[in-house]
Amino acid sequence: MADGRVYNFSAGPSAMPLEVLEEVQREMVNYKGSGMSVMEMSHRSKEFMAIAAEAEKNLRDIFAVPSDYKVLMLQGGATLQFSSVVLNMLGSKSKADYLVTGQWGEKAHKECNKYGTGQLACNTKSSKFTTIPAKAEWKLDPEAAFVHYCANETVNGVEFSYTPDVGSVPLVADMSSNFCSKPIEVGKHAYIYAGIQKNLGPAGMAVGFLRPDFADGSKEMKICPTYCSFKTTGDNGSMYNTPACFTLYVMGEYLKYTKKVGGLSYWAEQSDKKSGLLYGTIDGSDGFYQCPVEKSARSRMNVPFTIKGGDEALEKKFLDEAKKHKLYTLAGHRSVGGCRASLYNGMPLEGVAALTDFMKSFMDENRK
Ligand code: PLP
Repeated sequence: MADGRVYNFSAGPSAMPLEVLEEVQREMVNYKGSGMSVMEMSHRSKEFMAIAAEAEKNLRDIFAVPSDYKVLMLQGGATLQFSSVVLNMLGSKSKADYLVTGQWGEKAHKECNKYGTGQLACNTKSSKFTTIPAKAEWKLDPEAAFVHYCANETVNGVEFSYTPDVGSVPLVADMSSNFCSKPIEVGKHAYIYAGIQKNLGPAGMAVGFLRPDFADGSKEMKICPTYCSFKTTGDNGSMYNTPACFTLYVMGEYLKYTKKVGGLSYWAEQSDKKSGLLYGTIDGSDGFYQCPVEKSARSRMNVPFTIKGGDEALEKKFLDEAKKHKLYTLAGHRSVGGCRASLYNGMPLEGVAALTDFMKSFMDENRK
């Protein structure tokens, strides 16, 4: 680990690969001899236009985006996409289905009801968002404008390990917290969006992959703000207004690094190793540590766990002592409590090994 740094298990914004930070540091004051920082550049300058074009190309290459899909680089994070999806995709059907398997899907569903009817195709709230129901239990409406799901529920630690099959109804995914962690089937989706602050860069932006039949404005609501219009964003190469220039540049560096290390299959391999190590430690602890999520729905990115059945005093002691081992930001989300370790790309395997070593010694000392 670099001097003075800690292992940061934050759910987002989260740890970045050190190599990306170091490259940004090298280029911070004088970007490639331009005499200025990217932070200071006009977004219409030839240097910045090249940065944006390369980022888009690398997104297309790395994620194998079909050539007729639009790649959107958006501001406002994933939360704004909850509204933008509805404003651009609901069309005359005015109703959409939501597979709600956690708190983010729940928020997306709530937003739909502002502009139309968000129908619950499934909702696992009553079992505290710890499962993904089998397809046979989903109530899908063939007349829905789209089906929305959240590929990885960051708070609850629930992840789809497959692309949901919803027939011919357009499929929409919030991939904010497992984007860039494994290859994805872009062509099976009408729209994929992801805030980038977990696995692809700093906060402030979202990326979208949009099927062409939703890029022509034909399903856009009249009240859709220009800022949220997929057509306007796509037609203007994601530069209708000033983009989040510096965030976009850092994402570009992250993408270049992703290519260098071997693309999405590299991150997938790392994610499997890291989450396997942590779940193995939890499951091998004879109940001292417990993960509430059903095994088949467990996330490789966010691992929630309790200690001794949710002993709050012991959990506090765990968090305090973990810090002494440079293991930071392990508290669970404020709404669910307990602990949570987020294992995004920026967290090296050695960081997870340090965590599991600490968990074992903490268990030995506190089991009684
Ligand atoms: N969706 C998921 C799965 C998330 O994890 C988050 C944030 O953590 C959001 C949406 C909201 O993203 P933002 O804060 O960028 O609006």
